Amino acid sequence: MPLLVMKFGGTSVADLDRIKNAAAKVQREVDRGYDVIVIVSAMSGRTNELVGWVEQTSPLFDAREYDAVVSSGENVTAGLMALTLQEMGVPARSWQGWQVPINTTAAHSAARFVDIPRANLDQKFGEGFKVAVVAGFQGLAPDGRITTLGRGGSDTTAVAFAAAFEAERCDIYTDVDGVYTTDPRISTKARKLKKIAFEEMLELASLGAKVLQTRSVELAMRYKVRLRVLSSFEDTDENSGTLVCDEDEIMESKVVNGVAYSREEAKITLVTVEDRPGISAAIFQPLADAGVNVDMIVQNISEKDYDDHPGSVTDMTFSVPINQVERAKKAMEEAKVSGEIAYDELVVDTDVAKVSVVGIGMRSHTGVAATMFKALAAENINIKVIATSEIKISVLIDRKYMELAVQALHDAFGLEAA
Ligand code: ADP
Ligand code: ASP
Ligand code: MG
Repeated sequence: MPLLVMKFGGTSVADLDRIKNAAAKVQREVDRGYDVIVIVSAMSGRTNELVGWVEQTSPLFDAREYDAVVSSGENVTAGLMALTLQEMGVPARSWQGWQVPINTTAAHSAARFVDIPRANLDQKFGEGFKVAVVAGFQGLAPDGRITTLGRGGSDTTAVAFAAAFEAERCDIYTDVDGVYTTDPRISTKARKLKKIAFEEMLELASLGAKVLQTRSVELAMRYKVRLRVLSSFEDTDENSGTLVCDEDEIMESKVVNGVAYSREEAKITLVTVEDRPGISAAIFQPLADAGVNVDMIVQNISEKDYDDHPGSVTDMTFSVPINQVERAKKAMEEAKVSGEIAYDELVVDTDVAKVSVVGIGMRSHTGVAATMFKALAAENINIKVIATSEIKISVLIDRKYMELAVQALHDAFGLEAA
């Protein structure tokens, strides 16, 4: 039997009516002759609520118990989806991660797949079940405890199943009808892309475009999964949505194809650190040891008065995910106390946002940075930190200018017109 993976995100299973609507889409594919693996998220808002409960109960929570709690939202929707399908006359069975089993690493709250043995699901399909409804976002650690895959992880569950079961396609049903040049909720000028290259989608996702979890794009690229993003609210067919595919399948491409943003950034500056060989290692090693994901880094000569600092000093600025600020501060304070580093002051700025432009065309075009900086300057937006790679340029700016920056860059790179 040909097999499809269909994933429904939180808003697509937000209540019983939405679950019915999603189930009807599944039934249609079954009627066309497919076996289907359905991956479900928790009802929208539920995971946030669960995370909130954990944090209220225990601010420095045990990650195993965090996973035990936050994975539960998906169990509910998996069972309800299976019941809904059964009511429609479609033979369906729900599966929690441990029942499949979805074997992962032990990295609680950020686990990675180890393998997904096919035997249990294959047996059920063999018995005449047409649909396996699998709880997304969760897995099983080697020690038998439940893990989760990081926020947005159901996308990755979907791609992993598509790879393991050699699905014809992996369809990600969500609340927008495809991948756009930028978040359509931020810019009304955003344009839907018919196709987008894996590399570009990977950058957009990792730079904040929530439409797909970064890891899901990585897996799709590695295992050559045909990955599609489409609307769960509209009528859809084979041509709907956006196909994430190899670069050479795309005929038309611009230098910049997307603008991404992230509000979940914070900027930390260590004021007046010594400027000596080894200082960067002394700062970033403790951060790495504490599990802090440092993103952008700038080192500059301090403009303070250094009378009390013989020898040269510098300021070191870096950005971290906003929810890791406390961890980063603690790591720096401990490194200071133990004498590994010295600084006068640690300044945290949480009112920042990262805005990025992405395009594989940047590999062979110059002037992208100049265009970007000019567009921001024209709006009087000050750039605090810059980072570049082969196919992206990111800037850190005041958060209040984020939407304006996204619009300005979308215009500057002509993304509106097809
Ligand atoms: P789901 O609950 O279905 O997983 P998400 O909220 O995780 O949905 O992802 C879909 C959201 O991603 C959209 O509602 C949209 O606001 C956001 N988004 C951000 N960037 C983009 C983009 N470039 N194209 C489409 N959607 C985007
Ligand atoms: N429910 C989880 C989350 O909100 C996983 C997902 O929806 O992909 O992060
Ligand atoms: Mg999502």
